[in-house]
Amino acid sequence: MGPLRQGLLPLVFLLGMGELWGAVIAIKAGSIIDPAKGLQFDAHTIVIRDGIIESIVKHADVPHGVSVIDLSHSTLLPGLIDCHTHLVGDAGDLDPHMILSKSTAQVAYESLPNARKTLEAGFTTVRDVGTYRALTDLALRDAISRGHVKGPRMFVAGAYLTTSGGAGALTGLAPDVVLPQNLRFGIADGVNEVRKVVRTLANYGVDFIKILASGAVLTHGSRPTSEEFSFEELKAAVDEARRHGLKVAAHAHSAQGIKNAVLAGAVSIEHGSMLDDEGMTLMKEKGTFLVADIYNDDYISGNHGEMPKEFVQKEKSLGMIQRNNFAKAVKRGVRIAFGTDAGAFPHGDNAKQFGYMVDYGMTPMQAIQSATVWAAELLGKEDSLGSLAPGKIADIIATPENPLTNIKTLENVTFVMKEGVVYLHRTRKGQDPATKPVYQILSVEM
Ligand SMILES: [Zn+2]
Repeated sequence: MGPLRQGLLPLVFLLGMGELWGAVIAIKAGSIIDPAKGLQFDAHTIVIRDGIIESIVKHADVPHGVSVIDLSHSTLLPGLIDCHTHLVGDAGDLDPHMILSKSTAQVAYESLPNARKTLEAGFTTVRDVGTYRALTDLALRDAISRGHVKGPRMFVAGAYLTTSGGAGALTGLAPDVVLPQNLRFGIADGVNEVRKVVRTLANYGVDFIKILASGAVLTHGSRPTSEEFSFEELKAAVDEARRHGLKVAAHAHSAQGIKNAVLAGAVSIEHGSMLDDEGMTLMKEKGTFLVADIYNDDYISGNHGEMPKEFVQKEKSLGMIQRNNFAKAVKRGVRIAFGTDAGAFPHGDNAKQFGYMVDYGMTPMQAIQSATVWAAELLGKEDSLGSLAPGKIADIIATPENPLTNIKTLENVTFVMKEGVVYLHRTRKGQDPATKPVYQILSVEM
């Protein structure tokens, strides 16, 4: 501690701790959406102390001397949660083989703008479901939480737990190519190897396990219709994860792959493209979440850039099946958590999926709940994230219009606060000739 800091200490006691520490901010809201209760209410102010919501009061009851951010022309809602992102890697990497031309450091540095764009799009939390270069996601998570890098709060998987030649392996290489260990970290065959990989990942500090229960679209030679891990292997993964306090997210397209993973005890099914009636019944019984990436089909099928033809073909054959099964699952009351597969399309475009979720059967409130209160439940963080109430972490975003009447306004958030820190604040400057509102950035946390 330097002499200056030492000199400050008596001053602190003179003023009282609350004067220097315990910064209080208030946000005056036009309207607030409370996804926990499924309600919207007007003319209230959110009071935040030390990054935590202290109270939500009528405008007239804001404590004196508190600095107020005026968002009285906006709608406020909890920071959004995307439960299926790949912040390490992006849509420019059209083929998994491109990873072979990049060092671990390069991959890590390239993930920094992905994290920033995601946060600035209003996503204050992500569940990041795997990376080819194992454990780079942990490094990014920690850099963000230490304040070295701007990005969303991350929950990470560390690697893909996959069979040899499976959906999460780097396939399509010549037989005599030997991959470095961090590009084959999650490969496991048989119950014992599965347990070993789960133990290793848990030991390195992952937040959950990501397992590949069926083939995939964006993997060379992989068939989404197949099963990969056996039921026994999936069960071993769930059991071993549980012993370390972790849950398992299962990638599954095929109907049987989905059922195997649900019966084994996975907390969520990722993609769920060929989910059938029996699978829906099982998911309802077990309370399994469906995390269906129903926007990115339009991006991938559009064949932006030079994506391998095989991938585009598979996506085209599955896209509509997935959307229709998603609509059925919504109707049947399967629990849904918002997840986009960002990284298969440009980071920051995550909110484009909301419109699709409404088109395929959700109410706007349900679509918002899937990305807030329900997503927080999937993470097991409903006590601190996903809603606006006293005691919750102050992750707050604002939209210029009411998303309950125009869900697409979530694609243009104008204010982002994470844990009480403002990362983005655009204020309306005027109107451009095409009658679109023009915003200027008022303040951005660097
Ligand atoms: Zn994915």
